[in-house]
Amino acid sequence: MSKIKGVITWASGPVVKAKGMLGVKMHELVEVGDERLIGEVIRIEGDMAIIQVYEYTTGIRPGERVYATGRPLSVMLGPGLIGNIYDGIQRPLEVIARKVGPFFRRGVRADPLPFHKKWHFKPLVKAGVKVEAGDIICEVQETGLITHRIMIPPNVRGTLKEMVPEGEYTVLDTIAVVEHEGTEIEVKMYQEWPVRIPRPFIKRLEPTEPLITGTRVIDTFFPMAKGGTAAVPGGFGTGKTVLLHQIASWSDARVVIYIGCGERGNEMTEVLIKFPELKDPYSGRPLMERTILIANTSNMPVIAREASIYTGVTLAEYYRDMGYDVLVVADSTSRWAEAIREIAGRLEEMPAEEGYPSYLPSRLAEFYERAGRVLALGNPERTGSLTIIGAVSPPGGDFTEPVTTHTLRFVRVFWGLDTELAYSRHYPAINWITSYSAYVDTIEEWWDRNVNRAWRAYRDEAMRILARENELKEHVRLLGPEALPEKEKLVMLTARILREGFLQQDAFDEIDTYCSVEKQFKLLKTIIDFHREAERLIERGVPFHRIRELKIIERLMRIKEEIPNDQTYKIEGFREEVINQLRATFEGVRTVGV
Ligand code: ADP
Repeated sequence: MSKIKGVITWASGPVVKAKGMLGVKMHELVEVGDERLIGEVIRIEGDMAIIQVYEYTTGIRPGERVYATGRPLSVMLGPGLIGNIYDGIQRPLEVIARKVGPFFRRGVRADPLPFHKKWHFKPLVKAGVKVEAGDIICEVQETGLITHRIMIPPNVRGTLKEMVPEGEYTVLDTIAVVEHEGTEIEVKMYQEWPVRIPRPFIKRLEPTEPLITGTRVIDTFFPMAKGGTAAVPGGFGTGKTVLLHQIASWSDARVVIYIGCGERGNEMTEVLIKFPELKDPYSGRPLMERTILIANTSNMPVIAREASIYTGVTLAEYYRDMGYDVLVVADSTSRWAEAIREIAGRLEEMPAEEGYPSYLPSRLAEFYERAGRVLALGNPERTGSLTIIGAVSPPGGDFTEPVTTHTLRFVRVFWGLDTELAYSRHYPAINWITSYSAYVDTIEEWWDRNVNRAWRAYRDEAMRILARENELKEHVRLLGPEALPEKEKLVMLTARILREGFLQQDAFDEIDTYCSVEKQFKLLKTIIDFHREAERLIERGVPFHRIRELKIIERLMRIKEEIPNDQTYKIEGFREEVINQLRATFEGVRTVGV
């Protein structure tokens, strides 16, 4: 604890001003008032500190004390993080609920990690070796799914003087001693890190591997890369929550951190109730064994959303440093931006667009810049990735509002949820005309190597067909479909098959909820091969109506729900049937002599 003690001179909602704070630092953690509420210094003017408080300040009065702590707002990183549900300042909600019941009072403290729990510790290096920041010195089985790799903290290096033998230890026990130029540093299983400072790494790498989500419109058309950034703007009811839950539960990230920034009260409750019941689809173990939830509860002020965002991304970087692929889902960044706006308003700062302060874009940029695929510090050499998916909730579904437009400057993938699609029950309601992914080129090689070399060609052809349908729509509306040339009629038909048989995906269908990359490719190939063959037949004189009448077309749209991921060879059989039935229409042409 620092010696600096100030006095509150002014308080307005979550913002407090205190004088007598000379020497306090920007972003220093302070304790405010008699109840010692958690706050953070956000501005310094002479001996005056302006503090945002992460707990309700009702009743706080001028004259009460503010205590500086001498350290920035930080998180505690170590075994026991996974499976936890935290609030924005890393208080485990379950522990607090046990202490004081569900309506926890302000000023309550709880250990961020289980301090008394003993972990089985396996050393990986021996005393006497030289160590540097990031070196993995031991392992702890944190959950059934995650091996926690204990690393030498950033800023520490030297000779490993002592190392405890394999055994059971708590996070507070000293497990190693590092000596550097005569000073000895005790290393424990936990380390602390200030949330506003990105954790260091050696270098950034190109994100060349896709984050597979099992959602076709994403993986095939607008893919995410491990270490990439995406924004999902969507108005109310467009299926944002369902989509984010699908990604959080099915994606092939090793660790998922779900930040619920007080979207709607009941929505976060849904996450809190639903997630602990879900199973990891790959191992059948509880999903929480690879998940951390960060929830803004309704008894915390809106500004705590800001702390949630930084806390979440810092925990994510820590697992990235271990060499894992980590996914952060933030729902929703609009609520965080609103909190920033509220604070700016209380400080009477000059508003820029729609009341948001001029630094809104830089805050958003800082957040998304923490994503990336990196070469981590230390030995053994390893790469890790941090992928960020930020939901945006534009008021009235208007994508031209400031939070959406600025976010789109900083992310490389955009999944635009479309009210009209949702209204017509096309789910996921990701608009295939307006959405984009800048990772298609970078991950193409992965598909080549792991799935099929023809992936890109099929994907691009499907996109062209959908784009052409979009161009022809107006024409069809005015003149009717029959006025189209035969080949364009086929484009309209294939586009419909693509929409209904590929893009639409029912999150609640047992088979279709997750679609493997092999199945995605085979479905797409079947539809596009149908198109190519039909086009060839039309060129050879087969009338389009003969093709449209084929029974196989209805099945083309249902096959996604009929054939499970482990029987994709059946799709190949079905594809042959499609081609044979198509060719039979040509036989008809010859014998009837049309
Ligand atoms: P939002 O969070 O955007 O308000 P939700 O995610 O709650 O919207 O979705 C609203 C409803 O839309 C859901 O209750 C569900 O019935 C339907 N829905 C959304 N996505 C899908 C999907 N992929 N499959 C099936 N139904 C969906």
